[in-house]
Amino acid sequence: MPIHVLPPEIASQIAAGEVVERPASVVKELVENALDAGARSITVRVRAAGKKQVQVADDGCGIPPDEMALAVSRHATSKLFSAEDLFRVTTLGFRGEALASIASVSRLTLTSRIAQEATGVRLRVEGGVIQGKPERVGAPVGTMVEVADLFYNVPARLKFLKQDLTEQRAIDALLSRYALAYPQVRFHLEFERGVSLQTAGDGDRRAILAALYGVEVARQMLEVSAEEDNLRLDGFVSPPALTRSNRREITFFVNGRWVQDVPLATALLQAYHTLLMVGRYPLSILFLAMPPEAVDVNVHPAKAEVRFREPERLFSFVQRAVRRALLASSPVPTLPPRLLWKDSIPSSSKQDEAWQLGHDSAPVVAPSSDSARQDREEAIETVLAQSSMERLPLLRPVGQVGAAYLVAEGPDGLYLIDQHAAHERILFEKLMKQYASGQVVRQPLLQPPTVHLPPASARIVDEWLDRLHALGFEIELFGPATYRVRAVPALFAGGDATAVFRAVVEDFEEDETPLQQEIEARLAARICKRLAVRAGQVLSPEEQRALLADLEACDSPRTCPHGRPTMIYLSVALLEQQFGRRGTR
Ligand code: ADP
Ligand code: MG
Repeated sequence: MPIHVLPPEIASQIAAGEVVERPASVVKELVENALDAGARSITVRVRAAGKKQVQVADDGCGIPPDEMALAVSRHATSKLFSAEDLFRVTTLGFRGEALASIASVSRLTLTSRIAQEATGVRLRVEGGVIQGKPERVGAPVGTMVEVADLFYNVPARLKFLKQDLTEQRAIDALLSRYALAYPQVRFHLEFERGVSLQTAGDGDRRAILAALYGVEVARQMLEVSAEEDNLRLDGFVSPPALTRSNRREITFFVNGRWVQDVPLATALLQAYHTLLMVGRYPLSILFLAMPPEAVDVNVHPAKAEVRFREPERLFSFVQRAVRRALLASSPVPTLPPRLLWKDSIPSSSKQDEAWQLGHDSAPVVAPSSDSARQDREEAIETVLAQSSMERLPLLRPVGQVGAAYLVAEGPDGLYLIDQHAAHERILFEKLMKQYASGQVVRQPLLQPPTVHLPPASARIVDEWLDRLHALGFEIELFGPATYRVRAVPALFAGGDATAVFRAVVEDFEEDETPLQQEIEARLAARICKRLAVRAGQVLSPEEQRALLADLEACDSPRTCPHGRPTMIYLSVALLEQQFGRRGTR
């Protein structure tokens, strides 16, 4: 086939593929246009998950009648004049591509009116071809874009769309995030089945959070607000006890633009380091603001990717800001995850009403009377209040259960402590304290073991020799991929040096490329895990006492460095509830 220039319709359909991937991308572009137009109120109506119709109406500045045809042409924009402007973009749009792209794969109707005109103007486009002349119509000031029969002329695209429910969810997720990012704008989203989102536009982000995640979650979300030089971070992150099994609820906006950026998400996760259980992810919605020239938004047509001029500084700013917010609240898990309240014994009289700790996942049963509910809430409040203390109170050892758990009494209740997890936490904090002060105590080994490593691991060791030294190791190369361990941190003297060393070089989990300063903490956490007392090890009363005392001295005694709980706490109030001593008077 000879080389030939593609006809414009095909060229724009190809280009449209990059911008319009699914109905949610149409919604995104239209909503961004409305925001750029200064809208205070945006209404989105969706039919058949956006495949039949997406309609976005705004009360923004509108489009002058003589610019209507330009608006739907490719590379026509009112937001950019020169190439330099590209590096100080302050609007969400700038490529002049969205309307043209959407119009080329749908039947689009554009209706708009500016304040200076008494009537509006309407223009129809079908498959990228303008249909007739713009006509005068009655319309409020603002713009309404109606996109019907998306991909009607690109059947292959249609086939790639997911089930309606999935596409709807994508639209829901998109709009709720924009609603949070622009709390001063009223958003209204409606599917056939009814209104799905409605915000007040009064600037109250917490109220929008509540609409999104429910009142309880919204109440728990921690506020982040930090500033450093020309960087600003605002928004919400979940406390460590509130997690999801995936990272879908991690959202970043940069200068009002929703971006998908893996390193930013990683910086966030690092802020939670040692506070989250393995495989759990926080919820967050964070808004970064920086001078427009600090970020390149022209990376991809969908504008969801950006490039930062100083990524390292930015990531560490995000990490520190979030970490501060987490520590200011409490890094302590609240109720143990599977400890649920439920009415267990069906009661004829109020006297019999009892509470039990259930280990199943039965939902919380509504209490049968107001006073019972109040008592229940009080008890839970007490537990929450107690657990929000960072440090532990003085504990009195009671004994050991199953050679794995310590039982201890505090001034306010009973503590069940996982000896392995607790010891991990203790070792970790001791090592990190020594490390921070630059004086890790070393223990030379009388018979230095030699360890042979696979080549990939050997590379890590070579790269990290300095770090390992700072952590108290003395390691020398003894042959190809073979090392001799001459000293280990004194904290671990008596442990199996070979095992410790091997723990060091286990691969980091995929996609967790840590920030530089985090590597040491991760190494330390891993080593401490390897060396902590195991379950199954019987501890003498002295050893139990020493472990508890060490744990009391920890900064974050309630989780191990990997984020699992070290203890279950049963308050006196809780016990009284359990035994029917409270709430029955
Ligand atoms: P971009 O947003 O990148 O400029 P678009 O194709 O999305 O490109 O829009 C083209 C132009 O149409 C915009 O620059 C703007 O002038 C105008 N426009 C689009 N939507 C609206 C709207 N809702 N209100 C006012 N003007 C709009
Ligand atoms: Mg646009």
